[in-house]
Amino acid sequence: MKKALTLFTVLIFAASLFVACGQQGEEMEKSESKTTSKTTFVTIGTGGITGVYYPTGGAIAKIVNKKKDKYGIRCTVESTGGSVFNVNAVLAGDLQFGVVQSDRQFQAINGLAEWKDKGPQKDLRAVFSIHPESVTLLASVDSGIKTINDLKDKRVNIGNPGSGQRQNAIDALSAVGIDYEKDIKAESVKAAEAPGLLQDGRLDAFFYTVGHPSGAFKEATAGATKTRFVEITGIDALLSKYPYYAKSKIPVKMYPAAINDKDVDTFGVKATFVTSAKVSDDVVYAITKEVFDNFDSFKKLHPAYSVLTKEGMLEGLSATIHPGAMKYYKEAGLK
Ligand code: GLU
Repeated sequence: MKKALTLFTVLIFAASLFVACGQQGEEMEKSESKTTSKTTFVTIGTGGITGVYYPTGGAIAKIVNKKKDKYGIRCTVESTGGSVFNVNAVLAGDLQFGVVQSDRQFQAINGLAEWKDKGPQKDLRAVFSIHPESVTLLASVDSGIKTINDLKDKRVNIGNPGSGQRQNAIDALSAVGIDYEKDIKAESVKAAEAPGLLQDGRLDAFFYTVGHPSGAFKEATAGATKTRFVEITGIDALLSKYPYYAKSKIPVKMYPAAINDKDVDTFGVKATFVTSAKVSDDVVYAITKEVFDNFDSFKKLHPAYSVLTKEGMLEGLSATIHPGAMKYYKEAGLK
């Protein structure tokens, strides 16, 4: 019942965002029937609906759409497979903006990880960074998993191809000497499906790199199957090897049904907002300006934004800042 209620709440929230953000999914220019002004449709790629990217796209769209008369921009949000999908869709021109983990931004711009064969993704542009995200590992209490080393031979979701978390899980596992292809039963389902599978006993644990609180971990911890957030420690070599990883903690108070009684050590990245060099300066300027000029209202739209500062939102970016965003930062004295 509790689970059904959680899902119901998530669906209502998703439906309200969908309505708030409009229903067009493609960029196009069309003449408005009442006026002669053009509308530019832009779509933001996010993640699963129980993550934080989806409400983040909704928060940005909500702020920008309020000024539709001024800018002629209609912003819509799309649920996607996550960071890697978003980078590729933005560069293909299928999406104009995407929410992307800072480590994935770094890898794309430098031609690493998923972009090793394709090479540096030169057209990727940074706009700003958003909330911190933690590499989060949750296990059922019944599985007996208490440390990351206990994952051997267990059924563990590392994330779908296209997600940001997949490489984080692989990195965390290999840092403690676990080969995800040989030593665990690795699953590759989307983060939105993992909580149900854990609750049904079809997974022992799952990784998800996400801001907190998130619907996914509320759902995963609130059912009849008792759960525990598992520390990811012993990763100092990993943190010194990769510039984009930093220590972080999971605030377990946000999930009172999990059995942990103190915050859990792990590592994390930042969510960032990216676009393509091909998206016009005017559109990027308008979106940047509206988010920063309405910073206090934006910050209230999700508890994961409580730590945001305007200056901090210009950190953690490895791609070149889009000229439209830079124009605003110069005007505002932020650069
Ligand atoms: N960090 C995840 C990813 O890049 C998405 C998290 C979220 O949707 O909030 O795929």
